[in-house]
Amino acid sequence: MRYHSTRGKVRGLSFKDAVMMGLADDGGLLLPESIPTLTPGDVEALGQLAYPELAFQVFSRFVDDIPAANLKNLIERSYQSFTHPEVTPVVHQDGVYILELFHGPTLAFKDVALQFLGNLFEYLLKERGEKMNILGATSGDTGSAAIYGVRGKQNINIFILHPHGRVSPIQELQMTTVTDPNVFNLAVRGTFDDGQSIVKEAFGDLEFKSRYSLGAVNSINWARVLAQVVYYFYAYGRVRRETGCREIYFSVPTGNFGDIFAGYIAKRMGLPIRRLILATNENNILSRFVRDGDYSVGQVTETLSPSMDIQVASNFERYLFYLYQQNPDRVAQAMEDFRKQGRLEFADAERARVGEDFLALTVNKTQTVETIRDFHAATGYVLDPHTAVGVKAAKALAGGEAPVVCLATAHPAKFADAVRQAIGREPQRPASLEGIEDRPKRCEVIEAETQAVKDYLAQNAL
Ligand SMILES: *Cc1c(COP(=O)(O)O)cnc(C)c1O
Repeated sequence: MRYHSTRGKVRGLSFKDAVMMGLADDGGLLLPESIPTLTPGDVEALGQLAYPELAFQVFSRFVDDIPAANLKNLIERSYQSFTHPEVTPVVHQDGVYILELFHGPTLAFKDVALQFLGNLFEYLLKERGEKMNILGATSGDTGSAAIYGVRGKQNINIFILHPHGRVSPIQELQMTTVTDPNVFNLAVRGTFDDGQSIVKEAFGDLEFKSRYSLGAVNSINWARVLAQVVYYFYAYGRVRRETGCREIYFSVPTGNFGDIFAGYIAKRMGLPIRRLILATNENNILSRFVRDGDYSVGQVTETLSPSMDIQVASNFERYLFYLYQQNPDRVAQAMEDFRKQGRLEFADAERARVGEDFLALTVNKTQTVETIRDFHAATGYVLDPHTAVGVKAAKALAGGEAPVVCLATAHPAKFADAVRQAIGREPQRPASLEGIEDRPKRCEVIEAETQAVKDYLAQNAL
């Protein structure tokens, strides 16, 4: 399988090279040259498998340059760190199916991809005799999942910037209590945007980037999307076994469009998804796009589901590539127009195609709290605020003709404040958070200056 950029100037990469490149050198995103399609019999057979075997079956349709035994080993090690024997179990509550994606080390769905990506990076670096210094900025979830993905790994150091005093206490502790020598937490005296722009400037200094072999772990890496395709097949298999359904809905709380794009790939592969329900909070550029064809940037507002407080979704370009019938010139033009004007317009035929794949809803703060409260009252089950956004959209939009699976993207204990607002008490902590306040910490406070971060990295880089 070869990989091409959505903008057409990078072509013919192997899977391994696509993973190492991350963002394509022409500014686009990498996609497989074709999407393998499965027969209904294949889909049925996949649905019978345990998670690691299913992951291997899905991966091996996209990866032909890693020997099968090695790929299997990478997958197995990646999912051993999950505390549930099923990895991503499905539970039936209040008329919907909840796909629990939060049993990894940092209690959010990003572990599903980043546990694998960390192992894959280590494998590829060893094979190539190379080293990597990962640099990233986080507003919360991605940073800790990336840190847990690479802690203790050989030939990788990781530097994660978070805004000092501006991430939730649990999110901060999940990062700063990792004391492996290859992990460097930097608390920046500034905002998330300051951290983000420092990282962009460091990557933009090509001499610095290549001298220190800077690597990124953001959601544009194809391996992250691929790892997320797996649980759509897994959930379908479980629900089909229980209900005998043929088609299924998935409701996905969406920020950067990475998770739901994995569902779109699964649909193109032949998984009988009736519609993907795209659920956003008030930062709703994507739900406006699906409902009204209005893809125009707004202001980022703070919500109860901070991991979805995003306006410009980095993975959206991948979907545009298919919407524009795989024409890279049109994608490049559209991204240029969007950069200049902050909006894109779509023809009626394109809007009709969008409607065949997606439904969408914006869910506000009040509705999020109500959903957590009502769901808890009906079932005793506690939703996290991101998952609640998806559950609300599922109940509003899924027709009764097919079951609906709601992706549960975080454990409620990560967002205890929102849960307390809804049900009057904090959710129970899972074992990984017990006593986290009392563990040793490692974190450096640093000024919000690119040079200060570059100097720190230079002193501590591999
Ligand atoms: C990252 C994240 C999301 C959004 O996922 P995208 O792939 O960015 O759309 C939703 N919920 C939680 C808890 C997250 O951490």
